[in-house]
Parts: sequence; C-alpha cells; structure tokens
Amino acid sequence: MTSLFDALEWKRHAIPGEAAYGQLEIGIGQVGSGGPVALVAAGVHGDEGPWGALAIRKLLESTSVDALQGTLRVVPCANPLAMQADARNAPLDTLDLNRSFPGNAGGSHTEVLAAVLANEAVAGCDLVIDLHGGGSWCVNAFAFEMPGGEHISRAFGAPFVVKAPDRTVTLTGYARSLGATVAAVEMGGRSVDELAWAERIADGLRRALTIAGVLRGTATEPPIQSIPVGETTVLRPRAGGLFVPEVKAADVGTIVPKGTSLGRVLDSVTLAVRETLVAPFDETALLLLRPHIARLEGGAMTYVVAQPLR
Ligand SMILES: [Zn+2]
Repeated sequence: MTSLFDALEWKRHAIPGEAAYGQLEIGIGQVGSGGPVALVAAGVHGDEGPWGALAIRKLLESTSVDALQGTLRVVPCANPLAMQADARNAPLDTLDLNRSFPGNAGGSHTEVLAAVLANEAVAGCDLVIDLHGGGSWCVNAFAFEMPGGEHISRAFGAPFVVKAPDRTVTLTGYARSLGATVAAVEMGGRSVDELAWAERIADGLRRALTIAGVLRGTATEPPIQSIPVGETTVLRPRAGGLFVPEVKAADVGTIVPKGTSLGRVLDSVTLAVRETLVAPFDETALLLLRPHIARLEGGAMTYVVAQPLR
C-alpha cells in the first residue's frame, strides 16, 4: 500500500526568522489533485502542536493513496518558533497567529506566516480543519462548531461541542469567510491518555474527510454523540502559587456537580491553601483542565467549563 504519508509532496516557504538564521521555512504538504480540497493544520498555537501533528501522521500513514478522491493539504507545524518555545505564540513578535489572519506579506514574523498560510494553504480549500488541543499544560475535550460545519465538528466524537465566536482573524474564521466549511478541534494534550486521544482525533479526521468527499467510502458513526454546551466560562485563580489538581486527566470530557473541588492553589512559601477552584454549575461540563502539579500565575486559564444544553 502506498500511503498518503508516502505520497505527500512538500513545498517550503520562507518566513522572516531570528537574527542567527535570517529566515526559517514553513512546510505545506499536498497529495492528490482536483476537488474537493481539504486542509488539516496543527500547531497554530505552538504549545498545542505536537499532539495534533501526531494525529495527522496517524491519519496519513494508515490511509491508502487510492482512498483519496480530491486534494489533501497538511500543515503539521504551522508555527515553528512557537513550537520550539513550547509557547502559544512565536517569541519574535508574540502575536497570536490565530488572531492574525489574513496576515500581511510585508509584516512581522507572525503576520507573514499568516499570509503564507492564507495564500498557499487556505486558498482554494473546500474544507479546513484546525487541530488545537491541550498540548503541554492542559487536556481538552471539545470541538468548536461554526455555521455550515456542524457535521464536520460532530464527526470527531468530541465529548462536547461549543459554538465558536464569529471572527475572521482565526484560521478557520478566515477560511469560512472565503466559503470553506470549517471545524476546530480541541481534544487531547499531555497526559497518560495522549496516544488514545491522538487515535481518536485521527479517526475523526478520517470520518470528516470522508463526509466531505476527500476520501472515498461511507463515513462511520463517531464513537459518541457530542453534547452541545453553552457559552464557556474560564476559571482562573485570583493569585499565583503552587497548583495541585484534584480532577484528573480522565475527568476531562465529563460532567461534575456544582461545588466539586477541581483543584487547589497553595501559597508557594507557606503551602497554605489560597484558593480552591470549584465547579460553578449544577451540571458543570469540563472542557479543559490542568492535570498536572504546576507553578501557576494568578489569572491563568486553569479550567474551561460550560453548561450542557439539554
Ligand atoms: Zn489553540
């Protein structure tokens, strides 16, 4: 079997880089020809990148090139310097790539990156899937849905789906403004379950690309029906300290009752409990949590919760 992985062709585009190297390259892989055209990206936020990239690899190496009936583009490392820094944004200009579309070919590092992605990867796409996720500091269990792409978001079988804010500065929002069907996935991240999440995302990609007609065949049903949730709430500690989780990686994607103790922040010096973060709703859906002991700054995104719509 010749896999999609074996058949990919890579094009590299120069981006302004650090003083030491001058420029760096962004790689866009493509396989197949004709429509429909799909793009799958990972690592727009660098600290979330490796987990989504691994899901892309799992999809590519497990799928025969004969199954393709359109064009598939992949960008597994959309923000290389941010990945290197294990940070959301590239340290050169600290701009958020996912707030920088459609970019500026004459702008700073991240603005040029957005322009290259817009012109070379997004242009001409019928479907755009952007893989985010917990990454190095949290685990996530939801998909964003945007009008016209609900069936794609739900193909991932994420525990929860949430409506994305309507803004054209994100990769998917920009693609949607051009007429593409889009979905953004926020699943997985560093935990004992990270490989299982990667498999689940790869399955979701296979299903989504089949529904969109980029892969042949009939799409399987997702393993679970996603539960729609309302507006999200971010829980943040009022002051920094030593964070000790109480809910664990396996609890992401579940619903806990009001008052459930989620995690505590200890004073780093005296070890006294400064604050306990608790579930705020009768039914609190856990969309994002931090499963690891950590040093935490005050105001840090620590949990993302919402109420199920049912
Ligand atoms: Zn992200």
